[in-house]
Amino acid sequence: MSLRVAVIGAGLAGLTANKILEKQGYEVIVLEKHSHPGGLCYSIEIDGVPIDIAGGHIFNATDSSVREFVFGFTSREEWNYLSRNAKILIEDIAMNYPFEYNVAAFFPEFFDLFISQVDKPKFINLADFFRSSFGEWAYEKYFRPYNEKIWQYNLHLISTCWMDKTKIPLTTKDIKNELIKKNEQRVEQNMTHSTFYYPKNGGIYHVLVKPLLKDANVKYDVIIERIRKHGKSIFIKTNVGIFDVDMVVNTAPLSDLLQWLSYRHNLILPHHGTDVLLVKSDFFTREENSDISWMYFPERKYWWHRFDNLSYFQQRAHEYMLIEAPLGAYHGQKVELGKFKFEIVKVFRHVMTYPINDITDEANGRKSIISELRDNSIICCGRWGAWEYLNMDKVIKNVFVEVSNGEQDMDI
Ligand SMILES: Cc1cc2nc3c(=O)[nH]c(=O)nc-3n(C[C@H](O)[C@H](O)[C@H](O)COP(=O)(O)OP(=O)(O)OC[C@H]3O[C@@H](n4cnc5c(N)ncnc54)[C@H](O)[C@@H]3O)c2cc1C
Repeated sequence: MSLRVAVIGAGLAGLTANKILEKQGYEVIVLEKHSHPGGLCYSIEIDGVPIDIAGGHIFNATDSSVREFVFGFTSREEWNYLSRNAKILIEDIAMNYPFEYNVAAFFPEFFDLFISQVDKPKFINLADFFRSSFGEWAYEKYFRPYNEKIWQYNLHLISTCWMDKTKIPLTTKDIKNELIKKNEQRVEQNMTHSTFYYPKNGGIYHVLVKPLLKDANVKYDVIIERIRKHGKSIFIKTNVGIFDVDMVVNTAPLSDLLQWLSYRHNLILPHHGTDVLLVKSDFFTREENSDISWMYFPERKYWWHRFDNLSYFQQRAHEYMLIEAPLGAYHGQKVELGKFKFEIVKVFRHVMTYPINDITDEANGRKSIISELRDNSIICCGRWGAWEYLNMDKVIKNVFVEVSNGEQDMDI
């Protein structure tokens, strides 16, 4: 008899896990609390325009096994390959992104100060990471206000456990040379997402999630009440009955899982959310802004943090754009910015978009709890199961590692 597995959550992580496990011959059921799959990768169409409702989702992966996996079940032909051309609005100047490579060009009077403060990154917490890497001037000017908007949490209390630390050790001299060199070129090359893929037709859901759903056995509108282990069986009690399985792959919030298990712990698992506004505007249709992909707004006088130019990704989007703002920042007010016109068409409110790793998480043993659960056939993965700030490519990789023990020979 094949092993019975319940995957909790039908987002990218859950559906990737389902695909791997089905391929390996397991009998899998996916339990999803909503009436549709996709999670943060859900897209809808309005007026023929694809809208990624949690904010524009682009795909890129430095890991070749992730690219092979995705281009194994979707056709490469279905994706546009685009270069990123983002800007940051600071002091009414639209400066090139990223901030650190463009200080000389846009803030020449501060360049000597900036470069004198640049040092080797220290991964103590998010605030100290930015301060040590880029100095006090850049921290106060850009990194602090922007990140405070995104996280809505004391940056000194956010762990950097999810960051890629492999580029260190570079010497401070190497880092400075890199910043000066990039300043001359003023390009985003070498950044992970300087180029990326975006579906030619439909949003991210149509090209990435839908094919993963093929043949998946998903139960929607499931409310899990509790999970108990008896011998080798794991029983999941839900509003639609009890599921008796040999293994659980959890991609729902770790906080929910621990509650279902009545697991005693002292983890702090905070998170933050996002208001996404679909807007009709002439902001990106005007010539001066038409080739911009995203515009970032670090300054506190703006209640939003990012504009997404939908027609940069799909030309049929015309005058539609998205505005991303911290959860609750939008409360019916107008969007006002110079001469531009903004008409709010729809608001999507997402309570959980950013898992926050409070620095006490590590001390309180988040990873050791996850490892103990794994020993009991309960695997935690994905952005919420692992409770880490993972993008789609990192989510897929995380599932590879957790579900198939890193074996990527999947030939799916
Ligand atoms: C604003 C924003 C922009 C982003 N942009 C990009 C980008 O450009 N590129 C990129 O690579 N990544 C991007 N990401 C990250 C990307 O969205 C995530 O990495 C990815 O979608 C996470 O997939 P997941 O399956 O782990 O989580 P989710 O998508 O959250 O899926 C979890 C699933 O579990 C379900 N669930 C939750 N609770 C329960 C429960 N109690 N019982 C059963 N089911 C439950 C949910 O309904 C959901 O379907 C962005 C994220 C945000 C918030």
